[in-house]
Amino acid sequence: MDILNYINGQLRPAQGDAWLQNPSPRDGQVFSRIADSAAADVDLAVEAARSAQPGWEALGSQGRHDALMRLAALVERDMEAFAQAESRDNGKPVALARKVDIPRAISNLRFFATAILHWGSEAHATDGIAVNYTERSPVGVVGCISPWNLPLYLFTWKIAPALAVGCAVVAKPSEITPLSAYMLAERCVEAGLPPGVLNIVHGTGAKAGAAITAHPEITAISFTGGTATGARIATVAAPMFKKLSLELGGKNAVVVFADCDFDMMLKETVRSSFSNQGQICLCGSRILVERSIYERFKKDFVACVKALRVGDPQDETTDLGAVVAEAHLQKVLGHIALAKEEGGIVLTGGERVHLDGPLKDGWYMAPTVIEGLGPLCRTNQEEIFGPVVTLQPFDTEEEALANANSTRYGLASVLWTNNGTRMHRMAHALKSGVVWVNCWMLRDLRTPFGGMKQSGVGREGGEEALRFFTEAKNVCIKL
Ligand code: NDP
Repeated sequence: MDILNYINGQLRPAQGDAWLQNPSPRDGQVFSRIADSAAADVDLAVEAARSAQPGWEALGSQGRHDALMRLAALVERDMEAFAQAESRDNGKPVALARKVDIPRAISNLRFFATAILHWGSEAHATDGIAVNYTERSPVGVVGCISPWNLPLYLFTWKIAPALAVGCAVVAKPSEITPLSAYMLAERCVEAGLPPGVLNIVHGTGAKAGAAITAHPEITAISFTGGTATGARIATVAAPMFKKLSLELGGKNAVVVFADCDFDMMLKETVRSSFSNQGQICLCGSRILVERSIYERFKKDFVACVKALRVGDPQDETTDLGAVVAEAHLQKVLGHIALAKEEGGIVLTGGERVHLDGPLKDGWYMAPTVIEGLGPLCRTNQEEIFGPVVTLQPFDTEEEALANANSTRYGLASVLWTNNGTRMHRMAHALKSGVVWVNCWMLRDLRTPFGGMKQSGVGREGGEEALRFFTEAKNVCIKL
């Protein structure tokens, strides 16, 4: 199977006929090849986008809404094929792709398609002297670069608001998980999306991604990925005065107070630790537990984690599928070796899992729980982005807060308490872009989403995304 670029409405190989191999994490076997695009392909895509953008903007919000809704309907029609593809390409349980990834991708398209119909702009009357209104126009041609962990979910989270406001897009999905974006391109053709409005260029970050970032005609970059890559992109884009939205890494704390609903907390903390093999930027990887319930939590949590089933992503009963790539598996195992060197005690997991039969070469890992490490060691400071969590006890709220805020990241925090005053006090003091209280991954697409500190710059979601992809102009009329 060939995964082709989508440029100017056509599915086509990269220029020079260059290809990359695409293995499935499920069995480690190559099942497709990907167009290995370079700067010349990005140039073609930008040219197509530049030609298409004025017509797309002129179509008006109703016309763009209709096109995005047609696309959403086709993804919904083919939901099962998309879920199977996402599982095959990424290694995630197909049940998770069915429940989370694909429904959310459809919601992203519908949410921004309708948001644009309801969006207003501000007006300011100036003391009877003048009236001001704000006009918001699409910024033009934008670059959207997305990661491998939630492939179609994050891809659509970027392209949908950009297209809704009237921008034309050059997008690059991760080379590790390109399949669902390719399938979306096929549906774009079927939906009759005007050629050039959305262009999808496949290939590596170093080649295709870097060419998008550096292209002078691309006026804004929306990027989700690692903090180091975000810094590299900012180095190139900032001197060109491009608008930048960076959604980066995390090292999220889960803070558990003794007064919480223990059973609900336990169930949700297993989920926030190991969903998608721990490969969600919002997963809690540092679990801080009030000392009075630490031993009880440890015993019950480890028992729940031991009961999780690592297995075939296609099997409905699998809790953890494969991690995304062999190199990533080795990276996560390297972090576990480091944790042991730092004095950490592995309570469960800590090793690769070899399944039998045809899946023997797949990249599976046991969910891992480590204790005995302080807040400032590398294990508790660096993002691992795999099925690994640490446990740390705390005595006071101040200590928990200082520990939770002690990393360079600030993406999300999870707080478990039934004390209403403490909820607000802690939520205010936690330095993260999202604070979930007594829940995890409960998302309302209207809310601002993004990270503090080195977890990002800017916010996505709702009107924040619509604003990012537009330029505001103040028109002042003297009365
Ligand atoms: P990477 O930063 O490695 O890659 C992200 C995307 O950027 C990929 O499409 C990649 O291409 C591309 N890329 C790589 N280098 C460059 C470059 N020099 N110029 C332009 N583009 C480039 O992240 P991962 O894919 O490994 O994703 C995991 C990371 O993403 C984690 O740190 C995680 O926390 C973060 N993340 C953050 C989220 C948030 O909302 N804050 C949500 C989800 C993940 P390719 O892969 O093809 O090389």
